[in-house]
Amino acid sequence: MSEWRRHDDGLKVCRGPCADLLPCEAFPQRPDGRGPDSYCRPCRALLNRDYHRKYARQRGGRVHVEAPAGFKHCRGACGQTRPVTDFSRAPSHRGSDGYWPRCFDCVNRQKREYVIRRDHHGSSG
Ligand SMILES: [Zn+2]
Ligand SMILES: [Zn+2]
Repeated sequence: MSEWRRHDDGLKVCRGPCADLLPCEAFPQRPDGRGPDSYCRPCRALLNRDYHRKYARQRGGRVHVEAPAGFKHCRGACGQTRPVTDFSRAPSHRGSDGYWPRCFDCVNRQKREYVIRRDHHGSSG
């Protein structure tokens, strides 16, 4: 006589963090019409938010950087908005604007740091 056995009765276990047995109305419908989602609404909203936050971090913390036409926001140490002529051309692939994400200054500085580090390592010669 357990109430927890009434799975067919329009109830569904949430696969999200709450792991609750909830009525089907508590689950959003899938966009492709395959029935209710595996996560209830609050859990789905939570996961979506986490996903977006993670995604934003992958892209360098900011999803949208406003730069006027002909300018580009440097993702390097300087973090400045510079004319695209301060960036070297990169082979354009999906999601790229055809320029390196870092300006010449930042690339050169990184190269220099790399050389210094390398020279420290291989001190023979
Ligand atoms: Zn849930
Ligand atoms: Zn820079």
